[in-house]
Amino acid sequence: MIALITGASSGLGRSFAKILAKRGFDLVLVARRRPRLVELKKELTAEYGVRVKVLPHDLSKTEECIALFEETEQARIDILINNAGFGVFGKFTETDLERELEMIDVNIKAVHILTKLFLQKFVKRGHGYILNTASLAGFMAGPWFSSYYASKNYVLQLTKAIYEELRAEKSNVYIGAFCPGPVKTEFNDVAGAEFAVEGIDEMEAAEYAIDKMFDGQLIIVPKIYAKLTAAAAKIAPSKLMLAATAKVQSSRVRREPEMPVPVNTGADMKLRLSDEELDSALAGMFDDIKEINEINDKNGGNKNE
Ligand code: NAP
Repeated sequence: MIALITGASSGLGRSFAKILAKRGFDLVLVARRRPRLVELKKELTAEYGVRVKVLPHDLSKTEECIALFEETEQARIDILINNAGFGVFGKFTETDLERELEMIDVNIKAVHILTKLFLQKFVKRGHGYILNTASLAGFMAGPWFSSYYASKNYVLQLTKAIYEELRAEKSNVYIGAFCPGPVKTEFNDVAGAEFAVEGIDEMEAAEYAIDKMFDGQLIIVPKIYAKLTAAAAKIAPSKLMLAATAKVQSSRVRREPEMPVPVNTGADMKLRLSDEELDSALAGMFDDIKEINEINDKNGGNKNE
């Protein structure tokens, strides 16, 4: 069994590689930083005796995504993990357009291309797993992190739609979306912002995702607070969710004074609620969620979400 992991030079991708190697999978590791991939290959072959192929690619480039597929076409890839990605933090009018377009190329276009090419192959042979790393951000809009959140919405919605097409034709091929909240990786360094809340351990998050993928779960959200946030995003009024997300993201800026984005207290935001208003609104929302969960439980629940 072979797993191909993009973004394997760091963070969640490196953790996916370690977990799957431990479970006996041979690996294809993809990212731009070749030395890191080679170092990981050495570690995993020595520790677990698996075969590891290193394929450095810049996935922001269409031709490199297609080259990656062609280079692995003869190998029997069983699992594709579309994990490479990054964020661009800041106010939309001030963030760098080039950097954002590169982000859209990696977070959206590369995921789209690789999902399509590998899925066509998997469907033909009737077997395979595709796990797309989206994010909790995929459930909502993200002021001060707007294009990153929007990119993860694309990944989540695309994955859900394909899941349904596969289910309708009773395919054995799996597709699912991994949607973690903050995870301790190099993500912040690249995005240029600190998390407003503490991130969870990358190995723990990745192991959870792998287990749920093999269970066939469509949307994989580790940790109860993240599940509640995802549920809240589905039912809360848009303006309330925007205010809550803005509060979290604007507090990121305050922790990172060297950010080129001005420290924003949100005073210019018409949507902004006072802390007390927000706390009481959120408390009410969680009561609603509890009630909905109880009704769902009584009705047998929705296994896939
Ligand atoms: P990370 O430690 O910064 O890892 C990002 C990975 O993406 C690196 O391996 C990087 O490799 C690769 N990558 C970036 N641009 C690339 C490009 N142009 N071509 C090929 N590979 C590229 O961050 P992470 O947290 O593990 O992020 C992994 C995924 O999780 C991302 O999709 C991210 O959006 C998602 N996520 C992260 C969090 C979080 O809080 N950390 C939460 C939710 C979702 P090279 O630089 O070597 O190319």
